Amino acid sequence: MKNYSQDTKCQILNKELADRWGAISYPIYQSATFAHEGLGGSTGYDYTRMQNPTRQQLESVVADLENGIDALAYSSGMAAVANVMELFSPGDHIIIDEDLYGGSIRLFNEISKKNGIEFSVADLSRENVTGAIRDNTKAVYLETPTNPMMNVTDIEKLSKVTRSKGIILIVDNTFLSPYFQNPLDLGADIVVHSGTKFLGGHHDTIGGFVVVKDEKIDERLRLIYKTIGAGLAPFDSWLILRGIRTLSVRLERAQENAIKLAEYLKSKEHVTRVIYPGLLGHPGYEIMKKQARGFGAMLTFEVDSPEFARAILDNVELIYFAESLGGTETLITYPITQTHAEVPKALREKNGITDRILRLSVGIEGIDDLINEFERVFEVAEKETPGK
Ligand SMILES: *Cc1c(COP(=O)(O)O)cnc(C)c1O
Repeated sequence: MKNYSQDTKCQILNKELADRWGAISYPIYQSATFAHEGLGGSTGYDYTRMQNPTRQQLESVVADLENGIDALAYSSGMAAVANVMELFSPGDHIIIDEDLYGGSIRLFNEISKKNGIEFSVADLSRENVTGAIRDNTKAVYLETPTNPMMNVTDIEKLSKVTRSKGIILIVDNTFLSPYFQNPLDLGADIVVHSGTKFLGGHHDTIGGFVVVKDEKIDERLRLIYKTIGAGLAPFDSWLILRGIRTLSVRLERAQENAIKLAEYLKSKEHVTRVIYPGLLGHPGYEIMKKQARGFGAMLTFEVDSPEFARAILDNVELIYFAESLGGTETLITYPITQTHAEVPKALREKNGITDRILRLSVGIEGIDDLINEFERVFEVAEKETPGK
């Protein structure tokens, strides 16, 4: 791979996997199995649980975008995280950040713990990780910026500690996507993605990725991959491959909208807090400037009463009240009953995830329409919640 920019990497297919007819849109190889050329022969493809040309093309693009040696495509982001957990054995200890995607926390608590893996929780954006490290600590797992509170962890600084102790650093890079941030370059060992979000980008498919830079980890993950069988289907691989082609323009536009919306929301009467890492006063602003090429399109805000929050959700029209993020349409979510319903209450409260917190995944609509939508919604919400 030449030293192309991230924008160009979104467009570059793996020439070694080129379609023999020269198709620019890589074909969907909707085949479960592949014929052998003879005894002991293989075209490189035997069975789609192990490899599939369309999926491999996608994996090649994602590996290039994350500067990894390999990317593995899964049927969901959660399947990706669950497969990574299979790298560990009973008695292993993992330090997880305290502000994580709710599904990951559920996986760790409901499944990994039962399998004998120990967890402890730390605020990696503020605390020094050293105090949490034990003799059996095998990994540190985090997201940055976090969901939904946008806490930012200095990946490079943390990786110096984990590397010196032989601990694997795992970063869920879903929120910024490889277009804005490359954790492997900052010292992380494994990157995880929900491909459902910015990579797919159109709210039309579920997928996930693991990207690695170490051959031994890759070999082990490939064994787990073909054994468990949670690989991404050919059609969904094609959808995400297609989504990635516009990753750069979608993210640039969504980020531009997010910055304008953050500024707008800050000026609104009932908004008590706007949490966006691209705002100057945000505690993670300087780290973001150092380790990422952008601030992303996710933004969280707090209003002055739970009634006002609910009135906003009841009255959106252009904006969808829906879970998920990273697509072309703007979505609003209520973390306390949606993404973070599974997070223990004490932890939720410590992180400030209250019934007044709303999260936006900003899309690529016209910014004036988004602002007009909020003007209207705020007006109605004010009428519906007198004196609140
Ligand atoms: C959505 C999400 C996941 C899980 O991905 P799915 O594709 O929904 O399984 C993991 N991490 C983060 C940060 C997410 O936003």
